[in-house]
Amino acid sequence: MRARSSVGFVLGLLLLSNAWPAPAFGQERQESGVAVSWIPEKPEQGDAMVVTVEAEGSVSKVEGRFIDRDLIFFPWGEGSWKAFAPIPVGARTGERPLTVTVVSQEGGRSQSRASVALLPHDFQETELRVDPRFIKPPEEERPRIRRDRQMIREAFAVSKDERLWRLPFVRPVEGRRTSPFGTRRTFNGEIRSRHMGVDFDGRPGDPIKALTDGEVVLAHDLYYAGRSVFIDHGHHLFTVYFHLTDIEVEVGERVEAGQRIGTVGATGRVTGPHLHLGVRVQGRYVNPERFLELSLGDDPRHGRKKDVD
Ligand SMILES: [Zn+2]
Repeated sequence: MRARSSVGFVLGLLLLSNAWPAPAFGQERQESGVAVSWIPEKPEQGDAMVVTVEAEGSVSKVEGRFIDRDLIFFPWGEGSWKAFAPIPVGARTGERPLTVTVVSQEGGRSQSRASVALLPHDFQETELRVDPRFIKPPEEERPRIRRDRQMIREAFAVSKDERLWRLPFVRPVEGRRTSPFGTRRTFNGEIRSRHMGVDFDGRPGDPIKALTDGEVVLAHDLYYAGRSVFIDHGHHLFTVYFHLTDIEVEVGERVEAGQRIGTVGATGRVTGPHLHLGVRVQGRYVNPERFLELSLGDDPRHGRKKDVD
């Protein structure tokens, strides 16, 4: 509690030091030519909230913070910037402060503070039965599991310092969703974990498509995830695809939205063939279904490329 009130105190001081009056809470506000907005308007636990900043004049940098992450802003057309804010599944709900600072070319700093109404998400609970070797892995598999963990850590450690992704996002498979994000799972009555992606139904051999443009950073047969593909989309946005039958891309390869990367399978810790899709933002898995539904509008860089005829 003490930490929380001291954060509020620091922000209060920053606000007092502003030349502008303290802003009222709300979704959007104009201050010294800066407007801040976000979607979803009322985000939920596990969402990737998208923060949009519109600023007039010559801007050198846009910075921000929400919950426990510094926001990585990228340009989104003239005078506009966006950033993803990954919200933990266990985040405290209620009013949460969002701060944005716009730094001008001359070095002037304009800070805005808003309050975001964070809603709870109704996460399910489920019991699953899997091969016992995924509950207590055999001794000889332990080194492999350790190597897997290291490989995954390294794959997520660095990300391209540019936006590789573009709109619209592509749904990786046709199948219906069979298991939602964030479910608390008990495997064989013993191991508890949380489902950090979403499962889609599929038959072995069905094609899997990349959600958007990016670069393959891991393509490997992992003990728990089975044959898997990890794609970096830049600025620490990653997508992961688990349990494939075949991997059809290589590490270092550039892929495009909708490009085939492999086929549905039942490799690793599964109860049957399906695709597990994970979306990871700044080190945190977010709800892929709600991510795919975000209304980001036209992509200023790629959205208007099509010929008008
Ligand atoms: Zn899954």
